[in-house]
Amino acid sequence: MRIATITNWAYGITLLLTFGSGGAFMAAMRADTDEREAVERRSAYVRIADDVELIVERMTEQAQLYAARGEPAHKRAWQRDREGIAVIDRTIAQLRNTSLPRSLYNELAIADEDADRIEAIEQAAIAAVDRGDSAAARALLYGNDYITLSAQLSRAVDTFKADVRAWADRDLAAARDRADRWDDIARLLLGLTAALFLSVLYFILARRVARPLAKMSGVVTRMAERDYETDLPDDRTQDEIGEVTQALRLFRRNSIERERLERERDEDRRVKDLISRMMHRMQGCDIEAELADVVACYAPQIFPDLAGHIFVYDHARGRLDTIGRWQGPRLSLPDFAPTFCWGLRRGHSHRSNARGEDICCQHLGDITDEDCLCVPLMAQGGTVGMLYFEAAQGDGRFPDRAIYIDLMSENIGLALANIQLRATLGALATRDPLTGLSNRRHLDEMFNIERALAEGEGIPLACLMIDIDHFKRFNDEFGHDAGDLVMQHVAQVLKSHARERDLPCRYGGEEFTLLMPGRDSAAAAERAEDIRQTIRKVGLAWRGRPLPPVTVSIGVASYPVEADAASLISVADGALLAAKEGGRDRVVIAGTEPPGSPKRMRAAG
Ligand code: GH3
Ligand code: MG
Ligand code: MG
Repeated sequence: MRIATITNWAYGITLLLTFGSGGAFMAAMRADTDEREAVERRSAYVRIADDVELIVERMTEQAQLYAARGEPAHKRAWQRDREGIAVIDRTIAQLRNTSLPRSLYNELAIADEDADRIEAIEQAAIAAVDRGDSAAARALLYGNDYITLSAQLSRAVDTFKADVRAWADRDLAAARDRADRWDDIARLLLGLTAALFLSVLYFILARRVARPLAKMSGVVTRMAERDYETDLPDDRTQDEIGEVTQALRLFRRNSIERERLERERDEDRRVKDLISRMMHRMQGCDIEAELADVVACYAPQIFPDLAGHIFVYDHARGRLDTIGRWQGPRLSLPDFAPTFCWGLRRGHSHRSNARGEDICCQHLGDITDEDCLCVPLMAQGGTVGMLYFEAAQGDGRFPDRAIYIDLMSENIGLALANIQLRATLGALATRDPLTGLSNRRHLDEMFNIERALAEGEGIPLACLMIDIDHFKRFNDEFGHDAGDLVMQHVAQVLKSHARERDLPCRYGGEEFTLLMPGRDSAAAAERAEDIRQTIRKVGLAWRGRPLPPVTVSIGVASYPVEADAASLISVADGALLAAKEGGRDRVVIAGTEPPGSPKRMRAAG
């Protein structure tokens, strides 16, 4: 029941009880008045009887004195009292219509009649005295009739007084009873009012209002400080406090939900911001290792509870190689065939854990508590690598994070494909497809760099110019493919003799260059001689036919002894020409005489 209804009811009942107790008090007062009136009435009736008796006595006395002495004063006194008797007669006549019971009235009337008879005898006696017959008067006043009447009057008065007292006492007792009863009722109603008031005060104010309000105030204060730990008890009472409690519980639930949404929104913003920053960094990466560093830097910030790998697909080997890892992933092999991974087989993210929901990838070790996810990195319709996440314990919450993982994998895949494409294009632009060596363009770029370095640091830079002797004959006699084979053989030897920063390249046609930073001409010539002999030593065959020995002529020059940096290649080329002119199949250092044909050697520079 609503508190307002209870309060209204309590108010109404209290009002009724108050009115009731007021009425009862008034009734008790009226009963008191009745009681007082009964006492007064009793006294009045007794007084009337006493008056009758007293006046009759006085008149008797005056009449007897007048009869004995004949003094007129006694007659006058008797006549005054006789007027009193008349007054009493009128008073008694009036009592006929009062509450005095008829029987009592009759008793009084009998006494009055007796008094009237006595008065009549006395009047006759006084008249006898007035006539001078005192003896007759005395005979009347002391005769039997008179004495009998006097005794009768006295008895009647006594009886009346006793009966009036008994009647009045009954009346009095009834009035007293009434007064007491109304008093009790008034007290009871007053007690009930007080009890009702106190109950309402205790049950409504103390228990139903003050106590819940104190609890509410505590919870509301905590909620204001964004502490939603404590909840109010589920009060389903259909009253104002119950409604306020339910409203506060709803408010708390809404606040918790709002906080959760805010936290999710903040987390979403944080993760998207990190992914966006990672994307920007990835766009600036030139090589896969840089990309791996960027991913390994951002992935733990995006998912602090996940370890992982980034794998790249090596098309040449047909395997996945890890190029970066973060937070110590435990389970995955660093290098495996694509068939080991269900994610790569299906081209979709694949989750592996010990819960038995799905089959586990073979590149993972024994899974216990871990939760793992393999995400293929796809770009331009092909697989370029794989992202691997590992939650060390429990749930990696991958379905909740799918949107971020997809965003990451798409962008990392594109960035990886971009780097690979740039690398391919770069290789195409700088490599000679037949020999796999750097081309002339690349040589020019690298030469400028090495030249500047050598000049800046004052270190030597050697250059070998190599030309295959009578190469045309291979083409002519065995066909161009055989010529290509010879060219590839020479290129292979050059590669195998190149060290550290040495750069072997195809200069053009059947001419090659080997740039050797940090070498002087003596060391370079020594290497050139090695190369020449190695090329010569290997016997080639084409379609079962042995090819003639391949020989090369090599011109050697170095900065700063034989040439300045700018003309290093042309000086080496001059030395090559000298080697050709000197009879081929030899090494000539620029500025020295070629063995076998000193006169034809052309000084370089
Ligand atoms: P020398 O000893 O004076 O250098 O004589 P040579 O025959 O080696 O020199 P020449 O300049 O007369 O001939 C070079 C030939 O190399 C001409 C050209 O057809 C051939 N050639 C150039 N590039 C290629 C190539 O990529 N493959 C093949 N098979 N032949 C090529
Ligand atoms: Mg040649
Ligand atoms: Mg040539």
